[in-house]
Formats: sequence, structure tokens, C-alpha cells
Amino acid sequence: MKILAFDIGGTEIKYAFCDENFNLSESKSVPTNAHEGGKRIIERVVEIIKSCEGVDRIGISTAGQVDSVKGEIIFATDSIPGYTGTKIKEIIEAETGIPTAVENDVNSAAIGEAVFGAAKGCSDFICLTYGTGIGGAIFLGGKLFTGSSFSAGEFGHMITHADGKSCTCGGSGCYEAYASSTALVKSVSEFLGRPVNGREVFENFGNPEIKKLINNWIDEIVIGLKSLVYIFNPKLIVAGGGIMNEAYITDEINVRLQKTLMNSFRNVKVVKAQMGNDANKLGAAYLASKL
Ligand SMILES: [Zn+2]
Repeated sequence: MKILAFDIGGTEIKYAFCDENFNLSESKSVPTNAHEGGKRIIERVVEIIKSCEGVDRIGISTAGQVDSVKGEIIFATDSIPGYTGTKIKEIIEAETGIPTAVENDVNSAAIGEAVFGAAKGCSDFICLTYGTGIGGAIFLGGKLFTGSSFSAGEFGHMITHADGKSCTCGGSGCYEAYASSTALVKSVSEFLGRPVNGREVFENFGNPEIKKLINNWIDEIVIGLKSLVYIFNPKLIVAGGGIMNEAYITDEINVRLQKTLMNSFRNVKVVKAQMGNDANKLGAAYLASKL
């Protein structure tokens, strides 16, 4: 079986072929040009599909909240204007005749990790991606738990600070305003008086003041995880996002989380996501293979 797997994000559309053994090949990417709007993005995806031969299935991982049954975008922020309501599955199947699976990007990544990566063989785990915001996914009894309107696992908008910092969701005190990688980069940039990126933050690890900011940020991560552990009692938490490549972070999270939990919850382990950028495409390809 030849699957064409897409990962549609706010800046890039990545795609690759995937065979029946889930080996990815010919990975490519094109700019999303999000300002052109959701309709045009899907038109370009259709053009890419039509330019490829012998494709049996399409798997789509995409930004935004997704009705994975209908394969449409329930809600997307203005990062992709006009994306809300886009009937991705319907459009692609009508244009190409190829069966198509569509899932939200964080859920796709969680499926990728569940089937092939850090959570392989684990039926109950939660997954968090630390980036601009914080995305989340929940696996219970070996299945993705999506909630009543396909939106479960928005861990970034749990309140960890009552009346705290304002958040992109319109609320305040949300977890991601304190514990996303953006929150760390912002605090270090403010301290240094110049904009820095995630890599530069850790290049300055030797600076005691910056190490303190990093440690405060790790405490913020742990505050959120503690609540999640008490809700889900998971055996495993998979932490994704480029910043988690710094081993210091997951090591410290584990040490601090263990100290703060009641005894009966201490079997939980936090591990770094393993599949990197391929997780989304592999998860989407896996869903497509089941069509
Ligand atoms: Zn929020």
C-alpha cells in the first residue's frame, strides 16, 4: 500500500510517501502561505496528490481542531484564515477519489508515538507538545480519547494561575502562558533585553540568572503535569516539542514531579517524544492505512 502523508502547519506543508511497513520516503515541504486561506491550502494539497502516481490512501495531519469522522476543520485560529469549516476529506476524495483520513496534528503525533515511538506498547498515556503553545492528546485503553466535540486534551488552556497572564484563548492564567517554550524564550529575551530563540536560551545555560529562569519554567511545567497525573493516573507522559531535546529538562521534570506526587501516583515516567517531525505524518499514515 502506498500512502501519501501530509502534515499541514501554519508555516509549512510537509509530505512524504509511506509504505505498508510505515517507512517514510521522499519527504518534501512547501510553504503553507497561510495568508492565502484554508481553501487555497487544500487546493494545493490536491495539486500535490494529483502530481503523484499510484497513491492508495491519503493521511492528513493538520493544525486546528478536527472532526476526524467527517474529516473537517471544526475550528482554526487566525494563523490560517478561513480554515474553520474546511471539509478536507470531502474535497480531497471528490477531487482524487482516494480514501482520506484527517486528524489534528497533536493527535496524529500521539498516534505516531503510540504505534511507533515513545509510547509503543503503552495503552494509557498522555502526550504534550511544548511549542508556541501547549498541545495535548489523551490515550485511554489503547485509543485516542477525543471528547464530545473532538477537542479533548487542550492542556495548554488549563488554568494554573488564577487571574494570571492573559492567553491567546481569551482567558487568563493558562498553563501555556507559563510553560510553553515561547514563555521561556520570552522571559529570557526580557532578561537579556534582546530577542533570543530556544537554542540560544540553552547556550546561556552557564549564566546563573538564565539557569534560574529555566528552572522556574520547569517548575511551571511540573505544576500542570501534577494536575494531569492526578486526573489520569498515567504510566507514561510523552513530552514533545523541539525544546525537549535538552535532556536537562525531562530529567528535572521527572525528579521534581516525583517529589510533588502522592506515593500511589509515582509510577509515572515522563519521556521525550521519539519520532520528532515524522510523528505527525506517521500517525496520519497509520489512520489512513486503517480506512
Ligand atoms: Zn488559554
